[in-house]
Amino acid sequence: MKKVLIIGAGGVGSVVVHKCAQVPEVYGEIMLASRTKSRCDAIAAQVKELTGREIKTAAVDADNVPELVQLIKSFGPDLVLNVALPYQDLHIMDACLETGVDYLDTANYEPLDEAKFEYKWQWAYQERFKEKGLTALLGSGFDPGVTNVFSAYAMKHHFDEIHQLDIIDCNAGDHGQPFATNFNPEINIREVTAKGRYWERGEWVETDPLSWSMNFDFPDGIGKKKCFLMYHEELESLVQNLKGIKRARFWMTFSDNYLNHLKVLENIGMTRIDEVDFQGQKVVPIQFLKALLPDPASLGPLTKGKTCIGCLIKGVKDGRERTYYVYNICDHEEAYAEVRSQAISYTTGVPAMIGGMMMLTGQWKKPGVWNMEQFDPDPFMAALNKHGLPWVETFLD
Ligand code: NDP
Repeated sequence: MKKVLIIGAGGVGSVVVHKCAQVPEVYGEIMLASRTKSRCDAIAAQVKELTGREIKTAAVDADNVPELVQLIKSFGPDLVLNVALPYQDLHIMDACLETGVDYLDTANYEPLDEAKFEYKWQWAYQERFKEKGLTALLGSGFDPGVTNVFSAYAMKHHFDEIHQLDIIDCNAGDHGQPFATNFNPEINIREVTAKGRYWERGEWVETDPLSWSMNFDFPDGIGKKKCFLMYHEELESLVQNLKGIKRARFWMTFSDNYLNHLKVLENIGMTRIDEVDFQGQKVVPIQFLKALLPDPASLGPLTKGKTCIGCLIKGVKDGRERTYYVYNICDHEEAYAEVRSQAISYTTGVPAMIGGMMMLTGQWKKPGVWNMEQFDPDPFMAALNKHGLPWVETFLD
């Protein structure tokens, strides 16, 4: 029975705590810490009501390494599970190194003053984690996360070489709000307004933001939706780790309504990430916008419909070309009924819990800093079926 310290009491953090509480044989003791302790206490009360389990809570500023170190030392966890924001990743990794504790996150480091995410900052910790005999697992959400595991599973069982990978993320849910984002608005808008990028024949090709689209016919009654090419962080590690890869792209669906609102916000400067002077104060427009938009956690009871996230893969097995599609369908209302969160937080929080379980049970343990596809996908795929994110695979030809 192990101890986990979960950092970040947001939409994803809430699901992680609920799901860890459902697996007491692995997660013996759970502490949730965030900047605002009252948010941790509210989640702990909800988990107590649904599972009967006690969750410890604490206040911590995860950008303050000495404060983090003190908290880690006093609780003594076997794993720190980081579901705060990408800006905190390096500070939390530093604290894990100092205290000798394994690390897991769901999003790669991003500097606050530049909308740019890359693994280089976290991969630079490889030797330090190795020397200390510690494991850091990067990107254990859905995308990144399950999409990396889906790709590794395809590589292991169905292909000798993977030539084309299209990760396709569809949220066919509706929350009835004029404009809202399903996870942290600042992170979401920074990602969506950035330039697109995909991998082709050994190099990255850049596209203007949301300038490329395709229609994809989603399963399970969702039907045809327009998807837009975006850059997404798992592409960076997958093009290094998938044998034979020639092209890798990431697509996401957006409604016309979402895109129209975003265009207006962009045109009037509300998505800017630099400081502007306002009545003698410094204001970052995108942070101010976050304060005005609905809290993603408040969308839980309002959202209806499903998500479908999967990998469409073309490659070769035994000299024969084949096309393979593996995906998960998650229902917003079912997710809410189980853990009081909508499916976006659910599809991120469940894989974070499973990633932690892989580490704590020793199935995924290897000193160093690793992406998800670098471990055996089989136990993770089995756990997805068991813990609320069942997957379906089909061969299209
Ligand atoms: P939220 O904004 O809902 O929650 C983030 C939480 O982090 C907040 O509760 C906030 O604290 C806490 N936090 C922020 N800064 C600090 C700090 N300095 N110290 C301590 N706590 C801090 O975000 P989400 O839950 O939607 O997202 C969480 C993470 O999951 C993000 O990194 C996001 O990018 C990632 N994600 C990954 C996905 C994937 O599939 N891989 C998909 C969706 C999200 P407080 O409220 O206490 O002030």
